[in-house]
Amino acid sequence: MLAGRGVDHVVLERGEVANSWRRERWDSLRLLTPNWQSRLPGFRYDGADPDNYMATREVIDFISRFASASSAPVRTQTTVTSVTRTDDGYKVATTTGDLRCRALVIASGACNLPSAPALQDAVPDGIERVHALHYRNPSQLPDAGVLVVGASATGVQLADEIQRSGRRVVLSVGEHVRLPRTYRGRDVLWWMDASGVWNQRYDEIEELPRARNLPSPQLVGTPERTTLDINTLTAAGVEIVGRLSMIRDGRALFSGGLRNQFALADLKMNRLLDAFDEWARGTDGGANAGAVERFEPTRVPASSRLDLDFKSGEIGSIVWATGFRPDYRWLDVAVVDQKGHLRHDGGVVTESPGLYAIGLPVLRRRKSTFIHGAEDDARDIVDHIVRFLAVPL
Ligand SMILES: Cc1cc2nc3c(=O)[nH]c(=O)nc-3n(C[C@H](O)[C@H](O)[C@H](O)COP(=O)(O)OP(=O)(O)OC[C@H]3O[C@@H](n4cnc5c(N)ncnc54)[C@H](O)[C@@H]3O)c2cc1C
Repeated sequence: MLAGRGVDHVVLERGEVANSWRRERWDSLRLLTPNWQSRLPGFRYDGADPDNYMATREVIDFISRFASASSAPVRTQTTVTSVTRTDDGYKVATTTGDLRCRALVIASGACNLPSAPALQDAVPDGIERVHALHYRNPSQLPDAGVLVVGASATGVQLADEIQRSGRRVVLSVGEHVRLPRTYRGRDVLWWMDASGVWNQRYDEIEELPRARNLPSPQLVGTPERTTLDINTLTAAGVEIVGRLSMIRDGRALFSGGLRNQFALADLKMNRLLDAFDEWARGTDGGANAGAVERFEPTRVPASSRLDLDFKSGEIGSIVWATGFRPDYRWLDVAVVDQKGHLRHDGGVVTESPGLYAIGLPVLRRRKSTFIHGAEDDARDIVDHIVRFLAVPL
């Protein structure tokens, strides 16, 4: 897009094109967004299976083909080690030399580092700890029970995979977003797209900080389009416990609020389905959709235990599926808040003119969190950059 607007630019990448997909994903991961939704500026999924979900190697191929087709001037194996302000822009120090620029777009990702609660330090020795960022497959875990902490997309997918490997899984569940894979015969993300949810702008969203921190929905991409939620996992034999609240004297303590967590997630899911139905009634968009559906409420275990003794040998490892965070340690401009998040207004870092961001959750729209959100966001950011560069120094 910058090339199309005549802006001289370079893309710096510490590894290879699609690096995060090459280095930071577990082996079995498939996108939870359907193929038809995968798009990048001027580039669409053109395969034979639009309703399926890309495996990681297909995502790598998709992004690599986009990089070639767009002739993006990518300088690979070039790590940015520091960015500082100068009188006329920014100085960028990299492992292959320094650069100067008037405008700089931070596109280094939102998921560079593991995010795990501070209580992880209290896990007794002898229990292996793996964060989702470093998890690849069940064979790297000891042959014993596994405590998976976190039940968003990552947590439910890993719990399911590890349980299938023959290890007993205890899944610790806090706040989560429940969604069926399909609704009224269509992918639930089709409804998000068609009813306009994905396109909601950041400046029209109430409680924007909350929207930006919302857990990812409990979804998995499988050719069978299966729903993966707490009910599915319970049926598969996964033991569900409450939020991990403390580790003391070699014991994990879980909160007892499962009933409330489940009721809230069910309520929010049903509200969203109501909104889809309302949209379908008001337009002809839902004309080909199936009958209205409602799903069984999340089943609350008859009794869920409140603690787990690590010394009992029942659990050999913990998998932290507690999220990811960005890494701005290389950014020597004071625009990062105490929680490590970049301060920006829809991707424009207003405190530091000429500094921009892309690829962050709900950056300019709800869909910004996902690959297909980059296209519209990039267009807006490029517009801003062109206006900014047009003003003489
Ligand atoms: C587990 C997981 C599952 C996901 N599933 C989906 C999905 O199903 N569908 C979907 O649409 N989206 C999904 N996403 C989100 C998707 O990954 C993001 O929308 C997308 O990766 C954003 O692309 P990006 O290029 O902005 O960031 P990234 O893909 O994170 O790329 C950032 C790049 O910056 C490079 N970099 C970082 N720091 C430096 C530095 N200092 N110097 C030089 N280079 C640097 C990195 O090597 C990396 O290549 C998922 C994310 C995760 C973590």
